[in-house]
Amino acid sequence: MNALQLTADWQPKEGYALSENEKITRKAQTGSAVWKNPSISIGKLPDPELKTDEVMIEVAAVGICGSDMHMYEADKEGYILYPGLTRFPNTLGHEFSGRVVEVGKEVRDLSVGDLVTVEEIQWCGLCDACRKGLVNHCTNMEELGFTTPGAMAELIAVKAKYCWKITELAERLGDEKEALNLAAMVEPTGVSYHAMFNRIATWKPGNYCVVFGGGPIGLSAIALAKAAGASQIIAFDVSETRLEMAKKMGATSAFDPRQIDDLNDLLLDLTYGRGVDFVVEAAGAPEFTLAPLKMGLGVGATITHIGRSERATPLSLEHYQVRGVQLAGSLGHAGHGTFPNVIRLMASGSLSMKPMISATYPLSEAKDAFKRLEARKDAKILLLPNG
Ligand SMILES: [Zn+2]
Ligand SMILES: [Zn+2]
Repeated sequence: MNALQLTADWQPKEGYALSENEKITRKAQTGSAVWKNPSISIGKLPDPELKTDEVMIEVAAVGICGSDMHMYEADKEGYILYPGLTRFPNTLGHEFSGRVVEVGKEVRDLSVGDLVTVEEIQWCGLCDACRKGLVNHCTNMEELGFTTPGAMAELIAVKAKYCWKITELAERLGDEKEALNLAAMVEPTGVSYHAMFNRIATWKPGNYCVVFGGGPIGLSAIALAKAAGASQIIAFDVSETRLEMAKKMGATSAFDPRQIDDLNDLLLDLTYGRGVDFVVEAAGAPEFTLAPLKMGLGVGATITHIGRSERATPLSLEHYQVRGVQLAGSLGHAGHGTFPNVIRLMASGSLSMKPMISATYPLSEAKDAFKRLEARKDAKILLLPNG
């Protein structure tokens, strides 16, 4: 089959202490400290072998994610930018949809011909975290497209337990191709859904909501806030094109934070002096987004933090205490019924992710798509491995 592979050199940085597990598995915990000189190529790989609890999927559409870009891009020393769990060489791609073409003999709930999308987090179901229901924090996790072969390929074999059928979406649209393209957006949308509705159950229709960051996750959060009945969605990003996209997705106002005088004053002005109810951090810059927040947070406000940042962030905890504010860190998209709920929202017509898809490319032209995304002008580009 044709597939896109990323290769990189195993060269742990001086001072990075490899764990025994990392030495044995060659699975780096902090990819950016280990993998050097990334390069992508498209070529032939053997077809995957199907295990008894797996299904074979003919990949229809696969999104290029910011994480893919951060594995493809290197810093000045040549190390990949992505700081997470990684093993190379590997086929990238974790936001995808496709058609089941073969079913392992233990699989009960899927059949040949089913259209599906798949959770990226390959949770084990056996560790303490999984048994608590916190599958996004699985301690035996493999990550599809990061540590195991991904979906930028004509075929992929995945365990049936990570698959979700998109039947209602295909039925509603009456167009399988369109449904499969949108289904590739379920994973990134699921990241925002998990952060907003699972991690901390305080959402109320009517909320005044702030979304920091206009990348795919922030844009998904805007669309979800709209679908969930936010009465205002105030978006922030430093890019003009992303602010425009934020408005298309449902933001009621959109600002470049460098062009406002005072964040708290602005939020108080927009909310008739009450402050906002719900804040989504999807910018990965909490020192600029969350740190300044004080009176702009309404009484009882919730903050959910999705953007990744290793830098320490000073927070006004005194305000959190006095105003009854709560903050949740959020990671992942798996479990909790998130995938089926996102699929249903899309099928119902109340969640439209279509404006975010700016282009589609055949797999053979994937390099051009990666190159184009370096400019960070597109919200989402999809590769179509089977045409
Ligand atoms: Zn992703
Ligand atoms: Zn687990």
